[in-house]
Amino acid sequence: VYVANKEKACNNVGIINNTVRLPDYIPEHDLLRVIDFYNNDKTVDGILVQLPLPKHINSDKILKAISPEKDVDCFHPSNVANLWLGKEGIKPCTPQGIIDLLDYGNIDLRGKHVVIIGRSNIVGKPLAQMMLKENATVTICHSKTKNLQEITKLADVIVVAVGKRNVLNGDMVKDGAVVVDVGINRNDEGKLCGDCDYDSLVDKCSLITPVPGGVGLLTRVTLLDNVLLAHSLNNMCQ
Ligand code: NAP
Repeated sequence: VYVANKEKACNNVGIINNTVRLPDYIPEHDLLRVIDFYNNDKTVDGILVQLPLPKHINSDKILKAISPEKDVDCFHPSNVANLWLGKEGIKPCTPQGIIDLLDYGNIDLRGKHVVIIGRSNIVGKPLAQMMLKENATVTICHSKTKNLQEITKLADVIVVAVGKRNVLNGDMVKDGAVVVDVGINRNDEGKLCGDCDYDSLVDKCSLITPVPGGVGLLTRVTLLDNVLLAHSLNNMCQ
């Protein structure tokens, strides 16, 4: 689903894309060779490796092998460091999508208490840094957090990125809270749903994002933005 949606998004805006499907038994060194090939291909501006990778492959090693200028997912350590240092450059797709989404909704984050549930390298951690840059006060929660409800009730903005259904419900938020649902799950009928109990939240929140049709879309928009940025970075390097 992720790959097909990214291909479609690229096609919609005229970004030429090539999905390289490799067998899941590919040795790590062969995958590194593929990345090296595209690193050196001047006609390629951006590379992304769709995670998760098979267990026998060290994901960190693979992500580090992508040229930082072509790292359109912002997983390379030097791009992650740039982000934490507050420098301009390629941005992590889902967190930037969330910042843009709140911006479109005219949510001023300055001085707001933002509670992020989930501390992954893909969503929670980078988003916390980006929220700090927006001058929010940030609390990060995770599976070992005690009294989650006491914390979420204090929040002006809650971002839920856990990957489990019904992590947040209407009893856990204050009136007028903004809720961003990042999670992607399947309900009992097999339909896509988020981490939040949408029905109990929708009347209590001033803004809540749906799943599907919320964060996923903005994630892809950031990816396209990153390709454009990578294109200019690569032209500068040549
Ligand atoms: P992840 O790496 O599995 O991280 C999940 C986080 O949730 C961990 O930090 C974990 O805590 C925390 N957690 C687990 N159970 C919890 C609980 N009961 N209460 C509070 N925190 C809990 O997941 P991820 O990659 O960040 O993705 C999260 C969800 O977002 C998934 O459904 C994924 O598919 C979705 N996603 C969507 C997009 C999009 O574009 N829409 C992009 C990325 C991810 P510990 O650290 O203590 O284990």
